This record gives sequence, C-alpha cells and structure tokens, in this order.
Amino acid sequence: MGLGGYAERVAEAMQQCERAKVAGLISGTPEKLVKWGQKYNIPESSRYNYDNFDAIKDNPDIDAIYVITPNALHHDQVIRSARAGKHVICEKPLAISAKEGQEMLDACNNAGVKLLVGYRMRFEPNTLEVVRLRNAGAFGRLKFFQGQCGFVAGDPKQWRLNKALAGGGSLMDIGIYAINGARYMLGEDPVWVSAQETKTDPVKFKEGVDETIQFELGFPSGAVASCLSSYNISHLDRFFLTGEKGFAEMWPSTGYGPIKGRTHQGDLGKPHTVHQRTQMDEMAAIIFDNNTPTLPVDGLTALQDLQIIEAIYRSCASGKREPIKLS
Ligand code: NAD
Repeated sequence: MGLGGYAERVAEAMQQCERAKVAGLISGTPEKLVKWGQKYNIPESSRYNYDNFDAIKDNPDIDAIYVITPNALHHDQVIRSARAGKHVICEKPLAISAKEGQEMLDACNNAGVKLLVGYRMRFEPNTLEVVRLRNAGAFGRLKFFQGQCGFVAGDPKQWRLNKALAGGGSLMDIGIYAINGARYMLGEDPVWVSAQETKTDPVKFKEGVDETIQFELGFPSGAVASCLSSYNISHLDRFFLTGEKGFAEMWPSTGYGPIKGRTHQGDLGKPHTVHQRTQMDEMAAIIFDNNTPTLPVDGLTALQDLQIIEAIYRSCASGKREPIKLS
C-alpha cells in the first residue's frame, strides 16, 4: 500500500525472495496500478485504491498488507487492513503517537492478525553478529551506546517536513534508528531521557518539525546512551557500543548497506544481504510459521519506540530529565 520511493525498493528486493511476493497493489494513482501491475504481473482483480481496498478481505491470494505511506496515514490504514482480516506490516514509525499505536495494536489483536513493523536492521547479519557477541558476553558489562542518525532533508515541500503528514521531524523518521539501536545493542529498555532540540532553519523546519535533537537515555543497569537525530547533518550513520571487556563500532550502521563494523576482536565481516529481501522472507516465516526472530519486530516494540519518542519531545519542551514508562 503506497507505491512511493520505499515501496519501490521493497518490491524490487522481493523479486529475490523465497517466501514472499508482491500479490496485490493499493495506490491512489491509477497509472501506477497499471505500471506496477504489468511489472509484477498482478491481475486487475488484485489492484485496489484507497477507497475500495477493504474488499481485500475477499481476496484469498493476499496474506498480508504492507503499509508504506506517510506516517500520519498508518493508523487508519493499518486498522482497515486488520479489519479486512489480513496480517499487517507497517513502515516505521508505527504511527504519530503512542495513543494511535495502541489503537492499532488493539485492532490487530481483535482481528486476530499479526502486526509487524518494517525494522529491517533487526534482520541484518552484522547487527545480529553484534547482538550474538553481546549475548555471549564478549563486551562484558555494557556501559555506553552512541547512536548518530541523520541526513540533510532536501526538498522543503516533501511530506517529511509537513507535521500533519510526518507527525514530527527527524526523530520520527531517522532518529528512531538510534532509539532502536540503543535498545537492541544494549539489550535493555531506557527508563529516563534528557533531550535538547537545536533549530538553525525555522523556515524549513517549522513548528513541530524537529531539525536536530540530541538525547541521552538512561537504562536500569546504569548504562547510558548518547544519541543524535538530524535532518540537517550529513554522514551521520554510526553506532558505538562499549562495555568492560570490549567494544563494537558500526559505520554505516543503518543505511541500506553494506553495513560495516568491527569489534575489539576484529572486523564483523558478515556478507551484505539486501535488507528488504531478508526482512520479507523472515517476516513470511513469522507470519506462516510463527517464527520468533532474534530481535522483535512486533507492534508492541514499535509502540514502545513511540512512547520513547514522546518522552524525548517532552524533555525538549520541559528542559528536564523525563521518566520513560513503556507498555
Ligand atoms: P514517498 O513519498 O516516496 O512515498 C509515499 C507514497 O505514499 C507515495 O506513493 C504517495 O503517493 C503515497 N501517498 C498516499 N497518500 C498520500 C498522501 N495523502 N500524501 C502524500 N503521499 C501519499 O515516501 P517513502 O520514502 O516511500 O516513505 C513511506 C513510508 O516508508 C514512511 O513511513 C517512511 O518512514 C517509510 N520508510 C522506511 C524506510 C526504511 O528503511 N524502513 C525507508 C524509507 C521510508
């Protein structure tokens, strides 16, 4: 659903999938339905628009709907997909508020369908290698994580810079990778945050659309994270994790790859895989076989990220350290 830039990347990658394939299309642009329909060999009976896609409930060829539209649309579209009885994969961020996220979880639970979130890094081999080493105790007791995620947002007219469609600014879009990283690298969830926002271009980054946010997270073990989220700094794609016995460094850490990194023991060196292909095959295994992935990609994990995002925004506004309470 939503045949834009990222959907194009996902659909291309899915051509190499073993267990997932594009089986239907939802778009508001008739020409795209024709062009994509021909490319991916989708019969007209499996092409829908935003008005009529509820009829997917009667289409046995479709198991799941992947929502890849601007953030503010996810809430209604996921709920409608669930009501059509289909499993749902939703792009990040799950929604533009924790309240919406909870409603989406409830709708999927009520409909008895799975809700997964497009957190592709959670299937990436170098990332999983760091997690494996951490679980094996290679880094000892963890002390610190640093996550720096950002790019320069170009076109001032894009939906990402429109609060009504994006729900926020860099934090919702790219800073969420640093939040994710802090959680899966340290292997625990934060309990407090202290955050500051810096805005150098209030014309481009209007009220409610954050340009750059620096935030610190505190964890129950005493570990801390220092993170940066930006729409106005380039070459920002770097993770660093350190503990009493060793460290891991990844740079690039969340781009489309190849992901590169090393630890105190040497290069991570896991081969590059196309993230979206791996993600979709792994998600097929979650949907069809009830597989449990090493790192969760479920709706609750994504709802918790929204709760952390809201605490970061609260801290920016209050100028104080704010507690984080997760579902
Ligand atoms: P995009 O602008 O390239 O595509 C958005 C699509 O939604 C377009 O086809 C557009 O026509 C459609 N759309 C439907 N209703 C719309 C409306 N009311 N206003 C504007 N567009 C509308 O954006 P994108 O980069 O593909 O991002 C889509 C989603 O995917 C976002 O939630 C984004 O965060 C996510 N995303 C995830 C990754 C990732 O690596 N996981 C990467 C890029 C984007």
